[in-house]
Amino acid sequence: MGRNIAIDGPAGAGKSTIAKKAAQKLGFIYVDTGAMYRAIALYFLRQKTDLSDQDAINSACAKIDVRIRYEDNVQQVLLNGENVNGSIRREEVGNMASKTSAFPQVRAKLLDLQRKLAAEEDVIMDGRDIGTCVLPEAELKIYLTASVQTRAKRRFLELQEKGATAELSEVEKDIEKRDYQDMHRETAPLKQAEDAILIDSSDLTIDQVVEKIIFCFQKKMSAAESRNVTVAKSAGFCFGVKRAVENVYEAAENSGKKVYTYGPVIHNEEVMKDLEEKGVCVLNRKEELTQAKDGLVVIRSHGVGKDIYDFLEKEKISYLDVTCPFVKKIHKLVRKYNEDGYHIIVVGNAGHPEIIGVCGWCSEAETTVIDSLEEADNFVPPDGKKLCVVVQTTYNYKKFKDIVEIIQKKGYYINVLNTICNATDERQTETAKIASEADAMIVIGSRNSSNTRKLFEISKKECENTYYIQTMEDLDLSALQNVNNVGITAGASTPNNIIEEVQNNVRIKF
Ligand code: C5P
Repeated sequence: MGRNIAIDGPAGAGKSTIAKKAAQKLGFIYVDTGAMYRAIALYFLRQKTDLSDQDAINSACAKIDVRIRYEDNVQQVLLNGENVNGSIRREEVGNMASKTSAFPQVRAKLLDLQRKLAAEEDVIMDGRDIGTCVLPEAELKIYLTASVQTRAKRRFLELQEKGATAELSEVEKDIEKRDYQDMHRETAPLKQAEDAILIDSSDLTIDQVVEKIIFCFQKKMSAAESRNVTVAKSAGFCFGVKRAVENVYEAAENSGKKVYTYGPVIHNEEVMKDLEEKGVCVLNRKEELTQAKDGLVVIRSHGVGKDIYDFLEKEKISYLDVTCPFVKKIHKLVRKYNEDGYHIIVVGNAGHPEIIGVCGWCSEAETTVIDSLEEADNFVPPDGKKLCVVVQTTYNYKKFKDIVEIIQKKGYYINVLNTICNATDERQTETAKIASEADAMIVIGSRNSSNTRKLFEISKKECENTYYIQTMEDLDLSALQNVNNVGITAGASTPNNIIEEVQNNVRIKF
């Protein structure tokens, strides 16, 4: 993966000269995206395309092929196979590029090419939208500008050197017009990225600007090297989830039957997508289970109520039960205590499948789900009943303790069974510890994973700067820029490859 420096700014700010020099010093490849837009503009000029005619623009775009080649480290632009480096520097082409680069179809044509170059090599890429749009995760972003007068004067002198006749006032007007067009177009307008460093080159020499850019880059890189990234050892799949997922894969591949899961086997979109591709189908309601008559139903790690087992038996539907053993233990406990005359308090989220399953093992009238201190406060048990408290395996221990304390204060006979599983406890304790020492925390997991949400809450208490992400795509690396100690944790249903991807990016891409 290449390291990237993005340099954006208005026409004539000195971007290309500076980027070229900096690239040489750093051993990077210089990518001039303006030249690509100029090549396309050249095509429009040659074809005399009517720019007010969308169909004409579309059909021109379909015929344009832009490629890049390097000769002695110098970028060559090939327009439909022709090297057009010698023809694209004219003012006329630049002015045309400023107009045609506003067309979304033109921009779309070049975006992939630009990103591909940056992904493969260490590049300094200059243009108008590199930091904001093409490479939003570039290691360094520079916004290089200078006053209109300075830029016009530079261009004027350049033209004079080439022997062209031009009026300074005309050049100034052209520059103003191009600035306006570049900054006000709808698609990818020129603007400073939030995390870009502003350099005004009006009173600086080229070498001074180059030095400044190299200094900023080296500072960033050494900051990244001294950065501490701690990944929780307990992050990711717990035993119960791992076992359930492995069983579904195994069944999909070897059972010879169509495999159904009752509810998603894991609260993770990536894994679910992969299973779907392997033909695994999710059923969400009891009535839907009849669809699985000739297939195999997998009961996931969250477990289900007794009624589901009864239904499957009655309908003679084969099933594979991969309920997490810790959850299974709760089923047995609540059933036994219920039969012994206890009223069951289930501490947990009433809408969570694990809790729905647990409640399905005791009588409705003798079960209360409590998920907040307020609910605990308002709880009044049926007369004369003894109480048995169990808790969701992934619950926050501290919250559980607070809820139990409130109920205990009411003076009832109460038997508290802490059924939070070890893995959850470990994960939460480790998350709190890492978060208390981190400047920023990243919690990875699906939005609908309740144990990940709890990790987020725990982390946020210790470290204000906590980010909840599902995949690398959600992580705004720029938010972590001035951070020294980063902690990473993940919920029980987060696959390892996602944790690794985030970790690698956080280590490298600051
Ligand atoms: O930088 P240069 O003057 O060669 O760019 C020519 C034109 O191409 C610019 O005026 C601008 O309108 C367009 N351009 C762009 N996005 C880029 C690079 C250039 O829109 N990334």
